[in-house]
Amino acid sequence: MVSQLERPARRKTPRETRALFAAFQAANPNPTTELAYTNAYQLLIAVVMSAQTTDVAVNKATEKFFPQIQTPTQMLAWGEENLKAAIRTIGLYQTKAKHVMALSSLLLERHGGEVPHSLAALEALPGVGRKTASLVANTLWGEPVVAVDTHVFRVARRLGLSRAATPETMAAELPQKIPTAYLQDAHHWLILHGRYVCKAPTPKCRICPVEKMCQSPFKVVNFHI
Ligand code: SF4
Repeated sequence: MVSQLERPARRKTPRETRALFAAFQAANPNPTTELAYTNAYQLLIAVVMSAQTTDVAVNKATEKFFPQIQTPTQMLAWGEENLKAAIRTIGLYQTKAKHVMALSSLLLERHGGEVPHSLAALEALPGVGRKTASLVANTLWGEPVVAVDTHVFRVARRLGLSRAATPETMAAELPQKIPTAYLQDAHHWLILHGRYVCKAPTPKCRICPVEKMCQSPFKVVNFHI
């Protein structure tokens, strides 16, 4: 697997890492998810639906029913067929609809209809893996965890925050490397940076707020000319 990955940048020192996140913070003081939601339950199911789908596509689907469906009880009463019809524009919608129904039942059975605060309890829900659990816990409760998706994985390697070869290894490593003061927002800074600036395959280095701190072999270096 390593040979198929981009070559990572050299590892940043703690001082460089601190400066990097200070720059992200200066550029965007209050980063958050682009998924639309009004409560913890809606965020949880929006994140489940966002696997291999853009946040924009999820928001377009959920805006049709989030005004009426705000709790597991309402979702179960509404039913799987209605949910499928509402989300059929997003990838894997049949599986995702099944997961939403099953996790809604479990939330009622085990957690009184509330979204649990613990990562382990979240991960025990259908359709909720470590990445989804971390994103929900970080966004809702400020848990100091970093959900590593494809954007975070690429950006962290380009910026020398990690040379990990898998998202799982990186997810374990990043909380040790990122200063505590920046940990709560780190996921959102990195994912937004990857989504809009440090894109694959062509990063927009010309508009990058951390360009001067980047030693990536994939950095576009001649735009100053
Ligand atoms: S300079 Fe380019 S490669 Fe480096 S982080 Fe910024 S956008 Fe990504």
